[in-house]
Amino acid sequence: MIRERHLLGPGPSNPYPEATSALAQPLLGHLDPEFLRIMDDTCEMLRTVWGTTNSRTLPLSATGSAGMEAAFVNTVHPGDVVVVAVNGLFGQRMTDVAARCGAEVVAVEHEWGHPVDVDRVLAAHPAPAIVAAVHAETSTGVRSDVAALGAALRAQGSEALLLVDAVTSIGGIEVRADDWGVDVAYAGTQKCLGVAPGLAPFTIGERAFERRVEEPRSWYLDLGMLGGYVGEAGVQGGQRTYHHTAPTAMVASLHAGLARVLDEGLDAVWARHRAAGEALQAGLQDMGLELFAAEGSRLPQLTTVKVPDGVDPAAVRRELLERHGIEIGAGAGAYAASVWRIGLMGRNARPDTVVLVLAALREVLG
Ligand code: PLP
Repeated sequence: MIRERHLLGPGPSNPYPEATSALAQPLLGHLDPEFLRIMDDTCEMLRTVWGTTNSRTLPLSATGSAGMEAAFVNTVHPGDVVVVAVNGLFGQRMTDVAARCGAEVVAVEHEWGHPVDVDRVLAAHPAPAIVAAVHAETSTGVRSDVAALGAALRAQGSEALLLVDAVTSIGGIEVRADDWGVDVAYAGTQKCLGVAPGLAPFTIGERAFERRVEEPRSWYLDLGMLGGYVGEAGVQGGQRTYHHTAPTAMVASLHAGLARVLDEGLDAVWARHRAAGEALQAGLQDMGLELFAAEGSRLPQLTTVKVPDGVDPAAVRRELLERHGIEIGAGAGAYAASVWRIGLMGRNARPDTVVLVLAALREVLG
C-alpha cells in the first residue's frame, strides 16, 4: 500500500478527488458511444480552459513534452526560422525539439528567474516563421507576459505563429489563447488541472493548421491524422476513425477534473491559486528565506526559494518526505542545489496546505 503524499513539488500535484474517482469507473472501449460523448465534452471543456474557439482542441495521448513535440513537428518546415525565448529549462527544451524538427533556431537567452523580454524577442529576427515562449517556467517559477508578446507581434504586422507552452499555467493562472493571439499551445494534466500525468491538452488555430507540415516526421502526433480520432468535421465525414487506442480511463479522469475546475469557475480557481501562492511567499519571507524568481513575475502555483547557506538541500527534501509525507522539488539546471521548488497546484492551492508546508519546513530547518 502506498502512503499518500502531499505532492508540493513542480508536479505532479495531488489530483482532485473527482479525477481520481473517475479512474475507478468501468473501463469503456475507445469507440463506445459513451466514451465518444466523454471525449467530445472533454474537448469542449478544454476550449473553455484554453480560452479558445479552436475546433482543433484535444487531449493528446502523452505527457506535456509530447505536446511540445506535436506543436513543433506539425508547424516547422525545414529551414524555418524559429525564435525561442529561453528563460529556463523548458525554453531550452523547446530549442532542442525545434532543431530536431529542422528549424533554424534563434534562441533569445534570458537570465533564469526573469520573465521573457518582449522587445528582445521581437528584435531577434526580422521575419521568423514561429515565435515560441513558455508562459509559466516551472524551472524558475516565473510568469512571462504572453498577452504582451502576442500584442507586440500583431502590432509589428508579424506573420509569425505564436507557439506557447502552458503546461504549468493552465488551470492555475489566466490563459486566454484567442485574445492573446496564440496560434499553437500545449499543456499537461498533472499540474494545476489536478489530474494525474498522461495527457497533453493541445490547441491549434486555423492559421497554424493551414500552414502545417503535410506529412510530419511523427506519425503518432500528426495532427492531420488525429482529426479523425476526435471526429473533426470534414475528416472522414466526421466519423470517428481508429488512429490509436484512446487512453479512455485517463480521458474520463481529465473530464472529471475539468468539470470540477469549471464548476468552481475559472476566475475563482485563479483567485484561489493567487491567494495560496501569495500566502506561501509571504510566509517563506517571514521565515527569513529569500525567493528566487523576480518580484512582479512570480507564479503563485510554483514558488522558488533560495536554499539558505549551510543547509543541505537534499537532506531537507528527504526529511520533509520521510517525516511529513511532503514532496517538494529541487531546483533545475544550474540551480539544482541552490533552489527549492514548492508547488501549490490544483487541489493543493489551499490555505491549509500553505500552513502545512510552512510548518513542516520550519520544523525541518530547525
Ligand atoms: N513544459 C513545462 C513548462 C513543464 O513544466 C513540463 C513538465 O514539468 C513540461 C513542459 C514537460 O511536461 P511532461 O513532463 O509532462 O512531459
